[in-house]
Amino acid sequence: MNKKALITGVTGQDGSYLAELLIDKGYQVFGLVRRSSTSNLERISHLFDHIQILCGDLLDQSSLMDVITDSQPDEIYNLASQSYVPLSWTQPALTAEYTALGVSRLLESIRRCKSDAKFYQASSSEVFGQPEESPQTERTAFRPRNPYGVAKAYAHWMTVNYRQKYNLYSCCGITYTHESPRRGTEFVFRKITHAAAQIKLGLANELKLGNLDARRDWCYAKDAVYAMWLMLQQEKADDYIIASGETHSVKELVECAFNCVGLDWQDYVSVDYAFYRPDESVQLVGSIDKIKTELGWQPEYSFKQLVELMVDYDLKKLTNNRA
Ligand code: GDP
Repeated sequence: MNKKALITGVTGQDGSYLAELLIDKGYQVFGLVRRSSTSNLERISHLFDHIQILCGDLLDQSSLMDVITDSQPDEIYNLASQSYVPLSWTQPALTAEYTALGVSRLLESIRRCKSDAKFYQASSSEVFGQPEESPQTERTAFRPRNPYGVAKAYAHWMTVNYRQKYNLYSCCGITYTHESPRRGTEFVFRKITHAAAQIKLGLANELKLGNLDARRDWCYAKDAVYAMWLMLQQEKADDYIIASGETHSVKELVECAFNCVGLDWQDYVSVDYAFYRPDESVQLVGSIDKIKTELGWQPEYSFKQLVELMVDYDLKKLTNNRA
């Protein structure tokens, strides 16, 4: 019998890649989607024949219980949240409802309706906020610095507590920034790869960026979702950091992307202080020792390969758009 998986947040970057991976592995995939008058199913439109969409909402416990009872999933991946950090300051209570209490409702629904289902919770490096050590490990203290990080920290500990108290197979993957061609151009990685492709094709002639010295731990979203799946294939549930384990600066990124199209970035890039962040003293970088040793996972794509594949994607997409 094929395994069944339920994915919340299936319409997002990670949800769509995870759905592809599970379909490939022969799973019957269910996607939890909030009802909305406008469609946001663009990232999974190519998968419609292979996914069953179920309506439900993390704000509504009974809808979660119904969805779990109806679909009887072997695995549940919670990738849904209110994840936009600036919005978490203007709508902190709503962020907590989705990102924190939503996980309580989900865990409680699993406990009541399908307690043998394995559960993956998407934790975030934002739980570390201003970490006391770098790189961060699974034992690094949580010191979140925005309502989104606080909500994710709550969700993380509830997931761990349900594992301890009720013996659920529930675990958290603490992911760092992960990118793909399905990312929006408001994020610096895609902004740069997209701009390099545009400039190469003569569709733009400049790129304005903020802090070129800012560093991030970037990995490919496809690598990250593979780690999520792997975490649910173990005998025992445990929590892991999912990251590349290395940082690169925005300057390295821009240099690499422009190299891919054979241009010198310094001819096109200027610094615009509007894109600067107020406080960026902190280094977020994950240690992947635990997941590497225990699960044998490490990213398949290097930083350079990720830049290349994204530039390549944008070159092709923009060329097709013009044709
Ligand atoms: P996030 O902050 O991890 O959600 O990801 P972003 O992609 O938005 O930002 C990554 C880093 O790039 C931050 O440290 C920013 O300060 C830096 N950065 C430098 N220039 C830009 C820019 O033009 N846009 C964005 N979004 N970030 C920039």
